[in-house]
Amino acid sequence: MDFAFTKEELDFRREIEAFVKEVLPPDWDEWAVYWPGSYGTMPQLEAEFQEISRRFSRMLGEKGWLGIGWPKEYGGQGSAMKAAISGDVLSYYRFPAGGVATTIAGPTLILVGSEELKKEFLPGIASGEIGFWLGYSEPNAGSDLVSLKTTAVDDGDAFIVNGQKIWSSGAHVTEYGWVIAKTDMDAPAHKSATLMIIPNDTPGVTIKPIINICGNHSFNEVFFDDVRVPKRYVVGEVNKGFYNVMLALQFERMSVGSGGFRRVLEELVRFARETERDGRPLSEDPRVRKALAAIAVEIEVFLTFYWQSAWMQDRGQVPELEASALKLVFTELSVKLADTAMDLLGPFGLLDKGSKRAPFGGRVGMGYLDAISGPIGAGTSEIQKTILATRGLGLPRKK
Ligand SMILES: Cc1cc2nc3c(=O)[nH]c(=O)nc-3n(C[C@H](O)[C@H](O)[C@H](O)COP(=O)(O)OP(=O)(O)OC[C@H]3O[C@@H](n4cnc5c(N)ncnc54)[C@H](O)[C@@H]3O)c2cc1C
Repeated sequence: MDFAFTKEELDFRREIEAFVKEVLPPDWDEWAVYWPGSYGTMPQLEAEFQEISRRFSRMLGEKGWLGIGWPKEYGGQGSAMKAAISGDVLSYYRFPAGGVATTIAGPTLILVGSEELKKEFLPGIASGEIGFWLGYSEPNAGSDLVSLKTTAVDDGDAFIVNGQKIWSSGAHVTEYGWVIAKTDMDAPAHKSATLMIIPNDTPGVTIKPIINICGNHSFNEVFFDDVRVPKRYVVGEVNKGFYNVMLALQFERMSVGSGGFRRVLEELVRFARETERDGRPLSEDPRVRKALAAIAVEIEVFLTFYWQSAWMQDRGQVPELEASALKLVFTELSVKLADTAMDLLGPFGLLDKGSKRAPFGGRVGMGYLDAISGPIGAGTSEIQKTILATRGLGLPRKK
């Protein structure tokens, strides 16, 4: 099996890497505490980093790199591999750009959106001008999304939406909700809901902050009180919302930044070389060597899934199970990497951002807290294992 990149792909990697190095502020690493595979410290979700992440998104948009994986007729280059290379490089440098709009809403609209919706939204997404948040979860509907209670009642040329969403990451820093709501109260659960776009500035939308475990404002509660949503904002068919959300979730589960894992490993290896404990370098301690070797192998396994899913997409295959496997592997890896880093750093690892003695600017302490978010968001690890067991291995569904 030949895993080699083409010359064009290697040239693209060099080009985007040079661009990132040129535009990132030299002290960016001191601000960006982002931990790979998790959500709570993503700069794109914090108000503090909006100016810079919007600016960088627009720069990528100008280069045509935000929608690089999209088909050519929508302004992309039709290369999932280039999109994966871009994800790898951007995450290595903790580059704050892109998000739900480019990795989830755009690709889903291309597959199931009306021509009118594509015309209205794709250019703004590809240029980095507009952002989306995901309105799936509710206080009593997470893994069991079909229990959702938000309703969208038919009112001629619009739906009237009432209800509440929760854990809505980035709703406070984006412009549009990507929302699922119940449109047929009598239909079987999985045919009862519709996916729609709801502009945040529609009368009746209220967004309230939730502070996450890392102390950042990334989540929100969003309330809908008689919100009028034009029917042209329906994504895909009415009452097919769960199918369209499943499709969007596949894109979400593949939207991984792989480079961040390599970067943290490099930093830990350097730390082990440069740090002495009890009179000898950490790098000579067999426990440290074993732990770093073990995590390095796991990162390689994850990278194999990562490149494989891009390769499959470029061959027109839908990496449905691979998306679940990838999501499972990289979010669990995020936790293991944080455990390994914390063990290596010892008590200093607990120090927070801003503390002079905190190694890596406090990234590890924060990452340790943040890492637990990955295996929960976008479908928990248990849910991914159920998908792999039933659809992958053909095991029976639990009655
Ligand atoms: C960082 C982060 C960001 C998020 N961002 C968003 C967002 O932007 N928009 C959005 O809509 N939602 C978002 N979520 C919410 C996320 O989708 C839900 O938290 C997730 O689907 C789990 O739902 P729940 O929290 O209700 O937990 P529950 O579904 O109540 O699960 C609780 C526990 O039970 C387990 N469990 C549940 N059902 C089963 C089952 N059938 N088999 C085995 N185990 C099961 C779960 O694995 C979990 O361990 C985010 C979550 C996190 C952590």
